[in-house]
Amino acid sequence: MTGIMSTPTVHEPARSTPVIGEYDVVVIGGGPAGLMAATAASRHGMSTLLVEMYGFLGGAGTMGGLATFCGMHARVFGTDVQSIHGYADELLDRMRALDGLNEPHLSVADRIQALSYDISALKLAADELVTSGGAEILFHTRAVGVARSADDRIDAVIVESKSGRAAVRGRFFIDGSGDADIAAWAGAPFERSEKLMYPSLMFRINGVDSDEAGEAWRVVREQMEQAEAAGTHTFPRKKPIVRPQRNPLEWRSNLTQLSNADGSPVDGTDVHQLTRGELQGRRQVWDAFEFIRDHTPGFRDSYIVDIAPSVGIRETRRILGGLQLTEEDVLGCADFDDTIGVNGWPVEAHVTGDVAFRFAPVDSRGYNQLPYRMLVPQRVENLLVAGRCASMTQGGQSSGRVTGPCFAMGQAAGTAAAMALGAGLGGADIDVSELQRRLESDGAFLGLELPV
Ligand SMILES: Cc1cc2nc3c(=O)[nH]c(=O)nc-3n(C[C@H](O)[C@H](O)[C@H](O)COP(=O)(O)OP(=O)(O)OC[C@H]3O[C@@H](n4cnc5c(N)ncnc54)[C@H](O)[C@@H]3O)c2cc1C
Repeated sequence: MTGIMSTPTVHEPARSTPVIGEYDVVVIGGGPAGLMAATAASRHGMSTLLVEMYGFLGGAGTMGGLATFCGMHARVFGTDVQSIHGYADELLDRMRALDGLNEPHLSVADRIQALSYDISALKLAADELVTSGGAEILFHTRAVGVARSADDRIDAVIVESKSGRAAVRGRFFIDGSGDADIAAWAGAPFERSEKLMYPSLMFRINGVDSDEAGEAWRVVREQMEQAEAAGTHTFPRKKPIVRPQRNPLEWRSNLTQLSNADGSPVDGTDVHQLTRGELQGRRQVWDAFEFIRDHTPGFRDSYIVDIAPSVGIRETRRILGGLQLTEEDVLGCADFDDTIGVNGWPVEAHVTGDVAFRFAPVDSRGYNQLPYRMLVPQRVENLLVAGRCASMTQGGQSSGRVTGPCFAMGQAAGTAAAMALGAGLGGADIDVSELQRRLESDGAFLGLELPV
């Protein structure tokens, strides 16, 4: 940090913090995992609050500008099938009703299906889904700490917003922050890779002549490689994704890579690095856009319609839960007795200057099961952790972090929290076969037989 600094700390006087609500379940973070967790907890009869620091739900899917659901499908012995169900089906139905969801398309060198969507439709559908079961939402509110009632129990999360600093009491908490904020503050063990996966800043282009552009996504990569070989351009990352949206006037673009001055990945838990990432990302967006506009058929009159509200963070803290999902589990299509859902996405490693994809064998079942133990932190009884900060190694997380498995983890965490409260147990002690029964009766696919 530069600037004038006299003493390294300031003293803040102790103060009493008002409690602004008491709930059975408090979910922090309204991304794919958190929004499903809040839906599940409320539908299982719990008074539920979802705390989200932005003014809309969807997490990286909205504030990060993704516009594609990955990991909703698996290639099962050569056939593409939807492998994530449950409340996710209802979310997709609501998005379809808003005319904001595409049919699945083939992605990653035609090896796996993905689903593109309109970001506004996800915002609206997520609002509807979460509130439909009675969960309340507190937008524009950031969790900044926890108060504990015992070494192994959280009493309240401390939040800050335009209304000031406050506490929200809960009997059970679900950390869907993506960064394991709550778990870390509550003292649950976590790890952080020595070298994180690189973040990106997404953007969308409008005004594309779709007839002329055709399947231009197949040529952008080659054009960029040729320009680099000719020495006219350098790009921060290979394997760009530039694809049309439901209305092909608009194309989404995923081709930036955010780094520090020494080349290391921007860390999403460091505000100085985040700031640098935003500035660098917007510069990269403009450079990439200019290149695409000037070289790609159909893009001559196009313009940037949106740069995502925030840089997209792929990886920060990951908790050390009852079991870590590994890359070997993903590539070997592993089974677990305590399965709560499945994951059919390949390992997608965002390494320096490139993205490396690694798939389960072509003739395999194409998905691994997700064990409940991924969601169960050590040391904190009334907490579950779902989404990209669940218990996975870096290789496992490079696959399991995408939206589909995060939906599955979120639904399982919310359902499990309701069961734990119903039985007066900690998250680690619930009856997992009963959890599996409830998830299946709510439509989830646990991978116990082949999907249809
Ligand atoms: C650039 C990029 C591109 C990607 N592309 C795709 C893609 O095309 N398809 C795909 O499926 N996946 C993609 N991913 C993966 C994506 O991260 C996951 O799909 C998913 O969004 C992770 O879900 P999550 O709920 O765990 O966390 P997040 O989506 O990160 O959501 C966390 C939520 O918690 C909120 N939050 C965080 N901290 C606090 C706090 N202290 N207080 C209150 N609220 C808080 C955040 O605002 C956010 O809404 C991409 C990721 C990135 C970064």
